[in-house]
Amino acid sequence: MGSVADLELDGVRKAFADTVALDDVSLDIAEGEFFTLVGPSGCGKTTTLRTIAGLESPTAGTVRFGGEDVADVPTEDRDVGIVFQNYALFPHMSVRENVAYGLKFADPPDGQSVDERVTELLDLVDLSGMGDREPDQLSGGQQQRVALARALAPAPDVLLLDEPMSALDARLRETLRRQVKRIQTELDVTTVYVTHDQAEALAISDRLAVMSDGAVEQVGTPREVYEEPATEFVASFVGENNLLRGEVVGRDGDATAVSVDGTEFRIGDGLAGRARGGTPTAGDRLTFCVRPEDLRVGADTNRFEVAVETAEFLGETTRYYADWGDRTVVFRTPDPHDDDALTLGFDPADARVL
Ligand code: ATP
Repeated sequence: MGSVADLELDGVRKAFADTVALDDVSLDIAEGEFFTLVGPSGCGKTTTLRTIAGLESPTAGTVRFGGEDVADVPTEDRDVGIVFQNYALFPHMSVRENVAYGLKFADPPDGQSVDERVTELLDLVDLSGMGDREPDQLSGGQQQRVALARALAPAPDVLLLDEPMSALDARLRETLRRQVKRIQTELDVTTVYVTHDQAEALAISDRLAVMSDGAVEQVGTPREVYEEPATEFVASFVGENNLLRGEVVGRDGDATAVSVDGTEFRIGDGLAGRARGGTPTAGDRLTFCVRPEDLRVGADTNRFEVAVETAEFLGETTRYYADWGDRTVVFRTPDPHDDDALTLGFDPADARVL
């Protein structure tokens, strides 16, 4: 079993009456890739997934599997396995029967019998020995693994997962996440995963697309999206960036000086120049972000005074929310601070211009 499909969405638009669910969505998903669609509720993730599956037809644009336009290919002929949020198992069938149902419309691969295939799949999802149980005798995580085994039974080219973990508690989610990732890597099946949880998206994906309001804001590896958010939306949705808006007051060597409500900050040139396609000049409005781990107590540049509002102990680090004028800034540090008033600062190179 192995993947044979790369996936392409080219200018896909989907309108439901007067709701535009997808507006010009283009994506290239590589063969064998674990690709995630992430964004807030209603941004179009599920519609994108359903369009790939052929459960929705695009109002405009093209979906291609392995370079072929699949507009005329119905879902059952697209070689996709789908797992939805609500397990959707048959309650009065055993686990084995549920998995075997995945082979009702397709033969097992490699000349295997249905029985052999079901045994192999239960082994893959760590449920050997549970085959005779009924779904209500399984935990939520186990039920989702049965759903995954059923979806994978016919060895699909493409695996589509729509919030498969959202009904599970946090600990189970993390366990299932590792299992899904291991299975996907083992099978090398092209996978599109939908979640609204940005931390999950960063943890599990080879690449992800951040979506907002029917459009793709940024596509990249987790590191790229986290470290170099392309837009204000991405900066605020992924991680916990502090967004600051100011006005360029001039140049200072190889940095740009920006005034945010009267406090001047220096911003490193590389990022400022690249984002704006040129060197910023006095009077330009400029938005930049600084990550919580880059705001440091006792930094010697870009200093400003804050009043600590709350501290949350997270184990390895403590997260602080602090007031700076009428803004709240968030910073994270391994060193606890008891003072109510602190001077924070950041390195000019750690400011990302948006
Ligand atoms: P969620 O995380 O809440 O599932 P989502 O990002 O998956 O959200 P979609 O379900 O794709 O978003 O919905 C995108 C937009 O399209 C929403 O405004 C939704 O209300 C609308 N929409 C989706 N399906 C339909 C439909 N069948 N009829 C009408 N509007 C729809």
